[in-house]
Amino acid sequence: NRQFRLARRPQGMVKREDFAFVRGPVPEPGDGEFLVRIAYISLDPAMRGWMNEGKSYVPPVGLGEVMRAGAVGEIVKSKHPKFAVGEHVVGLFGVQDYAVSTGKGVTRVDPTLAPLPVYLGTLGMPGMTAYFGLLEVGKPRAGDTVVVSAAAGAVGQVVGQIARIKGCRAIGIAGGPEKCRYVTDTLGFDACIDYKHADVKKALKQHCPQGINVYFDNVGGEILDIVLTQLAMHARIVICGAISQYNATTAVKGPSNYLSLLVNRASMTGMVVFDWADRYAEATRELAGWLTSGRLKTREDIAEGLEQFPEVLLKLFKGENIGKLVLKP
Ligand code: NDP
Repeated sequence: NRQFRLARRPQGMVKREDFAFVRGPVPEPGDGEFLVRIAYISLDPAMRGWMNEGKSYVPPVGLGEVMRAGAVGEIVKSKHPKFAVGEHVVGLFGVQDYAVSTGKGVTRVDPTLAPLPVYLGTLGMPGMTAYFGLLEVGKPRAGDTVVVSAAAGAVGQVVGQIARIKGCRAIGIAGGPEKCRYVTDTLGFDACIDYKHADVKKALKQHCPQGINVYFDNVGGEILDIVLTQLAMHARIVICGAISQYNATTAVKGPSNYLSLLVNRASMTGMVVFDWADRYAEATRELAGWLTSGRLKTREDIAEGLEQFPEVLLKLFKGENIGKLVLKP
């Protein structure tokens, strides 16, 4: 069993030396446990935060522990009364080939309904985040203009498409022409702003002439500050993430245009997907329905080789992934 264990707390961008790559025997499940052979590991921006010491919405990964990660795989041995060999499951199985589980926090998935990587993306945590973040926190109304950053990523690709399904205009912000083409031509957003090459403020003015009603923020930083200048009255900003800050080594500056919230009677609300855990089944049903009918498209970016884990994780922070990034061990 190959594993990546957290060896030290990273400073700035993650480095290979922050982990220990170890090999050991495949573990045996005890009574009330089962063994999962991991098929795909989810790479999430949040993993960077889990590596830091200090209080967050989940405890940090301890030094010496297997790096925490969502994963999907097949049960290959079971001494658990409710989980059988051959079933496919999603859980926090970690960056390794095999995991032993008690079933806590584990969900069964059906590989005949959707390919396994989709259960880490559009039918998994990022999909749930997009669904509840947009619909419950962003509260879009038909005709609204919805802007989403990291629009070609796991969460962003779903946000804009749900916005369109709900009768809104969807404007993406993403890095580079290839991503922007994916967002407009494949996903059907109304427009996409390439923030690496365009004047974002000017482009937002052009694409959102009535102002922005909902901003689904995945990146924070400068883009958030620019969006604040283009809000419509009573706009809702969903604070989903701030990936531009996750590797910061100096204090982060707050948005200087925040008084736009006052002028426009607007709000900024943080969301954590786990708060909707008791409604995941409902969201999964609806998202799966849209996937089956072709109204929702999804893309997974599959990297191979467990030993590449540190470099593959970095793709998220370099913007090298399109769609949901997963690693096939
Ligand atoms: P993505 O698949 O969107 O990958 C990350 C993307 O972020 C990159 O591809 C890149 O796209 C963009 N990015 C990276 N660095 C920067 C930067 N410095 N400035 C601007 N954009 C940058 O990841 P996810 O969809 O998994 O996650 C998106 C966001 O959602 C993250 O902030 C994550 O933490 C958050 N999240 C929050 C949850 C919650 O419960 N609150 C749950 C799940 C995710 P580009 O090339 O376009 O720059």
